[in-house]
Amino acid sequence: MTVTQDAPARTDFVALAEELAERFGGRAAEHDAAGSFPHENVAELVSSGYTAMTVPREHGGGGAELEELCRAQETLATGCASTAFAVNMHVHGIAMIAGIGGPAAERAYRAIVDDGAVIAGGFSEPGVGGNWWHPTTKAEPVEGGYLLNGRKGFFTGFPAADLLFLSAARTDDRGLPEPVGFLVPKPERGVSVTAEWDAAGMRATGSHSLLLDDLFVADAHMVGQPGALPLMFMQGVHWAWCSFASVFLGIARGALETVVREQRGRTLHVLDRTVAHLPGVQFRVAEMRTRLAAAEAHLYQSVRADHDRAIAEDPLGHYIEMSVMKNSVCRLAHEVVSLAMQVQGGSALMSAHPLQRAYRDVVAGLLVPPNSDVTAEWAGKHALGVPVFAEPRWEG
Ligand SMILES: Cc1cc2nc3c(=O)[nH]c(=O)nc-3n(C[C@H](O)[C@H](O)[C@H](O)COP(=O)(O)OP(=O)(O)OC[C@H]3O[C@@H](n4cnc5c(N)ncnc54)[C@H](O)[C@@H]3O)c2cc1C
Repeated sequence: MTVTQDAPARTDFVALAEELAERFGGRAAEHDAAGSFPHENVAELVSSGYTAMTVPREHGGGGAELEELCRAQETLATGCASTAFAVNMHVHGIAMIAGIGGPAAERAYRAIVDDGAVIAGGFSEPGVGGNWWHPTTKAEPVEGGYLLNGRKGFFTGFPAADLLFLSAARTDDRGLPEPVGFLVPKPERGVSVTAEWDAAGMRATGSHSLLLDDLFVADAHMVGQPGALPLMFMQGVHWAWCSFASVFLGIARGALETVVREQRGRTLHVLDRTVAHLPGVQFRVAEMRTRLAAAEAHLYQSVRADHDRAIAEDPLGHYIEMSVMKNSVCRLAHEVVSLAMQVQGGSALMSAHPLQRAYRDVVAGLLVPPNSDVTAEWAGKHALGVPVFAEPRWEG
């Protein structure tokens, strides 16, 4: 982005998200239909200071805590889920990088605050899927840095990205693959788009597929020390999974608000009252509210947990708790939007109706990490005292 902030970072990011959601909502249908990337929305996110939300205050950012981030992202998603999801890697990614600190983080703060830089992240790869801790992208050491070769899929926000947060595997001292993270300025050479994003849901996220072909990355662009990537994830997982959940909760909240507003004023020829008077509609709306309340309670209870303590006491348990929450919230959000479709009836499927976009967008919550089967397996084992990971077998 060449846009820069108009003013110092704001502190009321939820109020800002409300303003932006209204404008973005007006453009959402058009971008969804065209599958185009909402560059003008990202420009507003940058100029308003939204993208500096999680940069620490001492580095000129908003210093937002996790709850403010989630409330803001939830609100933004009620207007345009694609935009909220596209900026999510940026706003939670910088909070995770801040947890590791070091020169890469400080350079990122400056780029975001001074130059309006936007981050997109690529961990997912064809053939690896959501098992991001096993990257097949190779990082081969060369003088001054690494050469990266591999493929990345689902690179959300790539069209607007100035900084790419990438994972790759280098070979450690024992000859084993070791995941490493890099935060690199979007290069002129070495990265090409192999397929533009064209999907049923989250159509305006520009989640392109990429080829990394001898991409040179300087040592200085490594995030933390070699091997720090899994640690960064474990220490900052609440930023990732809570913010993901907040986006999908926002889609569900938007669907409930839409469907309630519409039934209050809607009549059918066979009725002498509005559709809102039908018991079936009332029961479903009540059910939507109940599931939404459960999702909200689970998310914000997780947001407000004492993360430092939980990580110190049981890092794997904390990771699993956050993963269970994200999956539960996204499943409930999906159910809420499905109920909204039934309340609205067949008109909900028409391309002009906002619910059909919500229905296609909310499915993505079931597909993005952490994988629900892996989460269930780990959560079940952890609760039953069965080792989550296979114990090493010693030969001889
Ligand atoms: C809209 C959208 C945007 C995204 N944006 C990004 C992004 O910006 N950056 C990024 O890095 N990724 C992104 N992703 C990708 C996401 O991180 C996942 O990697 C991806 O959705 C996995 O899809 P896959 O088809 O590769 O499934 P896979 O992960 O290959 O899964 C296929 C099947 O195998 C099962 N499975 C997979 N692994 C295991 C296992 N270990 N144990 C048991 N079962 C398993 C799954 O449950 C599923 O049924 C995005 C995805 C979507 C949908």
